[in-house]
Parts: sequence; C-alpha cells; structure tokens
Amino acid sequence: MSQSNCFLHPSFQSKPVYELHCMHCENTVCLRGMKAILLADRSVELFSTDHPPLNSLKSVGKEYQTTKCLCWISDVACSICGQAAGYHVRVPCQSCLSSCNNGHFWMYHSDSVRSEERLDASGEHILVWAEIPPLSEDTVTHDNKLSYIECSR
Ligand SMILES: [Zn+2]
Ligand SMILES: [Zn+2]
Repeated sequence: MSQSNCFLHPSFQSKPVYELHCMHCENTVCLRGMKAILLADRSVELFSTDHPPLNSLKSVGKEYQTTKCLCWISDVACSICGQAAGYHVRVPCQSCLSSCNNGHFWMYHSDSVRSEERLDASGEHILVWAEIPPLSEDTVTHDNKLSYIECSR
C-alpha cells in the first residue's frame, strides 16, 4: 500500500469499515463503506465507497449536475429490487478534486441502506480503514462469503 493521497490521511485511518445492505431486499451493495457527513447539511448522513461489489448497483436516469458544484453525477439503485441507493460521481469537478477527498465517488443515502460494521479476517474485531486490504486483494468483493443472513430476533 503505497498510495499517497488523502485517503490515507490519519482522520480516515481509525474509521470503521461498513457493509451496507439494501433496506428493501438485503442485497449487499457495499463492503467497503465509510460514514460521511454531507458538508452542506450536517444532519444528512451518507456512506461512501471506493468500489461497490460487482453488479450490486445500477445507474438510473441521466447524468446531471447539482447546484453545489460542477461534478457530473448519476443516481444509482439496487440492481435487484431497484430501490434508490445513492449516487455515483462520474466526472468529479476541479474544486472537488482539489479539496482533500477520500477517493470515494460512490455515495449511499443512510436511509436507503442498512449498515453493519465489517469485521476483520478473525471475525472478532471491527475492521478499520488503516487495515482494509487494497481493492485488488480484497477477496470479499469477489465472492460472497461474508454475505450471511443474520437471524437475531
Ligand atoms: Zn464537485
Ligand atoms: Zn434491493
């Protein structure tokens, strides 16, 4: 891991990694989630990721720009049930690229997903961003061995 971007900034290191599931159908829509607060509105909680699991999301509608900046974004929905999940920044604008971003261009609305802290390989400790495997070695994103169903009633 020799990346030298803001992603490895100390404030990200100690954050837990979240798994996110579609609120509606339990489809696993994220295994590398980070909790984020929308700068424009601190009451809005979001999750972001560098890469969603393959085929877990589909984009809906056309690309558009918001009034906040010049990024081109598109909404994304659960690929199974179609419920809105969040949005994907397809083309980040200069001001977003030059500000210290965490390299995450996929966002999830916290009211569209159910979040769960991801555990490390031992299954006993909550995985934090300092310890997450690089995307290319993160086997969890390639198979579904961690997508167990929880029965806790
Ligand atoms: Zn932007
Ligand atoms: Zn779904």
